This record gives sequence, structure tokens and C-alpha cells, in this order.
Amino acid sequence: MAVSYSFVAFFNSISSSYSSSFSKPSLGSLKPHYGLRVDSKNSSRRLVLSCSSSHMDSNSDTMDIGQTQVSSTAPFGLTMSEANMSRSSCKWQRVLLKVSGEALAGDRAQNIDPKVTMSIAREVAAVTRLGIEVAIVVGGGNIFRGSSWAGSSGLDRSSADYIGMLATVMNAIFLQATMESIGIPTRVQTAFRMSEVAEPYIRRRAVRHLEKGRVVIFAAGTGNPFFTTDTAAALRCAEINAEVVLKATNVDGVFDDDPRTNPNARLLDTLTYQEVTSKDLSVMDMTAITLCQENNIPVVVFNLSNPGNISRAIKGERVGTLIGGTRNSMAART
Ligand code: UDP
Repeated sequence: MAVSYSFVAFFNSISSSYSSSFSKPSLGSLKPHYGLRVDSKNSSRRLVLSCSSSHMDSNSDTMDIGQTQVSSTAPFGLTMSEANMSRSSCKWQRVLLKVSGEALAGDRAQNIDPKVTMSIAREVAAVTRLGIEVAIVVGGGNIFRGSSWAGSSGLDRSSADYIGMLATVMNAIFLQATMESIGIPTRVQTAFRMSEVAEPYIRRRAVRHLEKGRVVIFAAGTGNPFFTTDTAAALRCAEINAEVVLKATNVDGVFDDDPRTNPNARLLDTLTYQEVTSKDLSVMDMTAITLCQENNIPVVVFNLSNPGNISRAIKGERVGTLIGGTRNSMAART
């Protein structure tokens, strides 16, 4: 026990040095929803699980380890048994949420809509409090899309794409600030080094953050030009052994035709990877969908703007379009 605790305390002290301290942004009338209680003590689920019941104080949720009081609650104030119960009812335990830049822009009055980032933060809080591990890949299309700018005033494609990747870092830092303002411990990892603002991407460190109940936001895409953040989502999902890519968009899912021009376009419930590629459905770019197919990663495409959709998708409820997976037979469409 002592060994295990010292390791966690040591790890916490190392990793907390990377955490950014944000003052609470002013978000108008928006107020934090959750009475979150987050500290380095109760975010350590591994440590709590390894304690024997004889160490527990029967009158409280805390236990003594040496001179340190350690909470026996899971992140966000649930007891471990509550967290385990809720966790087991969810289809996915570790998810990769892809949020496009366009989705962050909301009604597009500005590049980023704070109401959107706050609603994402609240949704993510709702699932992380169940013990679900959430990693996020953010896009940057609301600020800069390399392919659209390449060629203008001599801007080569690689340089344009690096600017696009920098745009994703801006979104990631904004999202992190919003998350932390409502008490969700969050780390940003960038695919290329920007050590003053974020950690570099280190796979094992990312996994460790997730295990400790922290949300990890992956920024700067894959770190390589000529790729997209959809591909980054598929890649990171495979690397961290997440079970699903949840692609949050501005539409309800994948349609058999463009719903903006065809009012009779049907929302498709499930699709195979082959159907996506052969019908050239514009869900994800080909590299991303192929990576998902090769690694058997299902993709759920759903509308971010419907409240509750992120948690519905994670719980395996029938939301949006599922690619490359099977629905729970009992799952009802909501
Ligand atoms: N980008 C890149 N490599 C990557 C990911 C992104 O070069 O691995 C650049 C590319 O220029 C892209 C921009 O970053 O246009 C923003 O990413 P993306 O278009 O995927 O964002 P989204 O459409 O999700 O908002």
C-alpha cells in the first residue's frame, strides 16, 4: 500500500506540474451544473481500489494511509460502488470524442461559441462522473483549414496545414479552460512540442491520465501535414485502446442524401465500413475510415447540439448513425 501510494503521489506531483491553472472564464449566465469535488486525492481510483476494507473508516468516505487522508470516492463524488454500477451499464468504457471546429463555432457568430464549449464540458462531466474515460480530438476548421488556404500568396500546403494544426491547439486550450472551470481535470497533449502551453503527446502518459479520471484533449492532429483531425481521432483511438470514435457534428448522423437539399433524405441507422467507402458518403476522410476499419473501431456520428447526445452515444443508446458496429438489441432511439 505504501509503495502504491507513494507512486501515485509522485505521479500526481509530476503530472500536476503540467496542468494549467485557469481563472474561471466569464460565460455570462452560464453556471457550473455539477457540484464537482475534484482534487488530486479523489482522482486516484487505482489507489482506492487497492485498499483493503480494514483501512476504511466506516463513518466516512475517507481512509487513512500514513498521515494522508485519501477519499474513497470515485471522481466527482460518486462512491466506488455507485461508479462501478453505472459504468457497467454503459456500452463503452473508454471513448474518443471527435469535436470538429465547425461544431465548436455553433451559430458561427464567432470562431468559438463559449456556450458550445460549456455544453460539451457539461456532457463530458456527466459521463466522466460515471467513471467513463474520455479522450477528445479537436478539429480546427472553425479557424483555419489548410487545404482552403494552400496556394494563396505562395502558401505551400505543408505550411498551411501547420497553421491548421495550430488552430486545433487554440480550440483545445479553450476547451480545456472551459472544462476546468467546472472542475473536470483536463490535460492537453499536442502532437508537436509546445511545452509552455501543453504536454507533448506521450501515449502511456495519456492512458495514465485517463485511468486517473482526467480528460485528455489531443491537439495538433497527427502532427503531420496532409492529414485531418478525423484521422488523428482514429489514430489516437487505436493507440490508447479506446473502444469507439464518437464523431460529434452539426447534423443528426449520416443521411442517404444531402438533407439540406433533399427533404426526403433518410437518416441511416447503421452502416458498414464498406458502405461508407463504396457509396462515398462524406462521413470521414478515407484514411480515417480505413484506419477504423483495419482496427475494428466503430464510429458513431451524431449531432452535438442535441443535449444529452454524448452520454446517450456512450451508453450505447440508439443515437445518430453507427458505422462498423452492432446496436444493442434493446437500445431504443431517443
Ligand atoms: N491538420 C493537419 N494534419 C492533421 C490534422 C489537421 O495538417 O493531422 C490541419 C489541416 O490543415 C486541417 C486543419 O489542421 O485543415 C484543421 O483540421 P480539420 O480540418 O481536420 O478540422 P475540423 O474539420 O475537424 O474542424
